[in-house]
Amino acid sequence: TRGSSLADFADKIGADSASLVEVLFHLGEIVTATQSANDETLLLLGEELNYNVEVISPEDEDRELLESFDIEFGEDEGAEEDLAPRPPVVTVMGHVDHGKTKLLDALRSSNVVDKEAGGITQTIGAYQVATDVDGTERRITLIDTPGHEAFTAMRARGAQATDIAILVVAADDGVMPQTVEALNHAKAAGVPIVVAVNKIDKPDADPTKVRGQLTEYGLVPEEYGGDTMFVDVSAKAGTGLDALLEAVILTADASLDLRANPHQNAEGLVIEAHLDRGRGPVATVLVHRGTLKVGDSIVAGPAFGRVRAMLDEYGNNIEEATPSRPALVLGLTAVPGAGDNFMVVADDRLARQIAEKREARERNALLAQRTGRRTLEDFMSS
Ligand code: GDP
Ligand code: MG
Repeated sequence: TRGSSLADFADKIGADSASLVEVLFHLGEIVTATQSANDETLLLLGEELNYNVEVISPEDEDRELLESFDIEFGEDEGAEEDLAPRPPVVTVMGHVDHGKTKLLDALRSSNVVDKEAGGITQTIGAYQVATDVDGTERRITLIDTPGHEAFTAMRARGAQATDIAILVVAADDGVMPQTVEALNHAKAAGVPIVVAVNKIDKPDADPTKVRGQLTEYGLVPEEYGGDTMFVDVSAKAGTGLDALLEAVILTADASLDLRANPHQNAEGLVIEAHLDRGRGPVATVLVHRGTLKVGDSIVAGPAFGRVRAMLDEYGNNIEEATPSRPALVLGLTAVPGAGDNFMVVADDRLARQIAEKREARERNALLAQRTGRRTLEDFMSS
């Protein structure tokens, strides 16, 4: 019931929400019916009403569902030596108009992995860039939908898509409200931040001021003895881009253990999906572990199917996708949601069974919302 509103909760226990609001008020908690009530509030209510409230997160619920099929999700299988390095997955965040889109565009055109392809042709929701660090080509997966809405939406579903956040701050504007929001979201998620001080081509740019401002929010630049890397860039002029990517790699190497086992059934996250007129449901997935292959039977949230074909961000057909690799998947029977997890299972039959169970669960939840309400009085006297 995590994150559900008081009204949802009232429906579940067959009470009316106004009465619950009143009970809570007497207990000293002010919650409106449409507000989402936190776990503690729901537990408190349960205690007060002699109701045995058990808080089960959607993730736990799904884990139980998968366990009933003898499937464990979210673990690297095998031994330590099976783990291989994987690229960091990065989200770009920051205040509106500070240059998130421009920066993503600049990186997309200047640091492409597939030089032959002549630039990224598909907007599939994520792409990889490459940069040279100490003579080695290092890759970074960039989530193409900037802003922390997508980030928070995924987190709300228990999904962690991002390893590192690039916080874009315009050097002329400085720290603004959404800058602070974005950095708070990243901190809450435990995601390291690299600061891109953007628009340094502007005459009124003041990158030193940005450093001072962010220090007050706990992001202390390395050059001041802190552990946050700040890089001056101009998305417009294309300057500082390699230094920014290098800072991402250095931050990843310093604070994260980014390894995954590529030798197992693939699992990961849907980051975008829609219905394509010609191709049917298409989903961009980000592989977390394992290797996704054409022909695999997969289940993605309430959708399932067999991978008919996969495309990369250049529109090339690919046969497989390794950890941190985004890929456009064709062959699903329905459109999954952004933030749904996906995984490869033994066969189509199993994929269908899991998908059907998930669908049934969603249907039940809806049904429970539509069944009649009782007043709190009825409920307490019964
Ligand atoms: P977003 O809202 O964060 O995605 O910001 P945009 O990428 O849409 O950029 C907002 C405006 O700032 C646009 O007019 C961009 O052309 C401009 N802009 C972005 N980066 C730079 C930069 O490095 N220098 C200058 N001068 N303008 C920039
Ligand atoms: Mg934008």
